Amino acid sequence: MSTDHPYQAGLDAGVVRYQACEDCAAWQPLQRHACRACGSTRLAWRDATGRATVHSVTEVARAPTEDFRALTPYTLVLATLDEGPRVMAHAEPGVTIGERVRAGFMRHGERTLLRFQRE
Ligand SMILES: [Zn+2]
Repeated sequence: MSTDHPYQAGLDAGVVRYQACEDCAAWQPLQRHACRACGSTRLAWRDATGRATVHSVTEVARAPTEDFRALTPYTLVLATLDEGPRVMAHAEPGVTIGERVRAGFMRHGERTLLRFQRE
């Protein structure tokens, strides 16, 4: 599948990865080509600890695609990694904003999904 993408390959290996600048060390929101802080194009993928704080929570009752229908209802969160970047992921039901979570990994079909659980 898309294991050539560093973020997805990381999930398959059981780690959350994020991009950081090799020149000034600033973390990058989403995937970028140049550093948001200094403009350097020397960006590298780093392994995060997987610890995060829940920023927002969405309960999904109707899956957007057939692929996800088997999982409904499920919980999606935006979580802020301790390293700074914010990631979208599945989560243990009932997590609340501000709660501390740690990364877990769930196989779904051919892919590995990031799924946070309470610490
Ligand atoms: Zn930089």
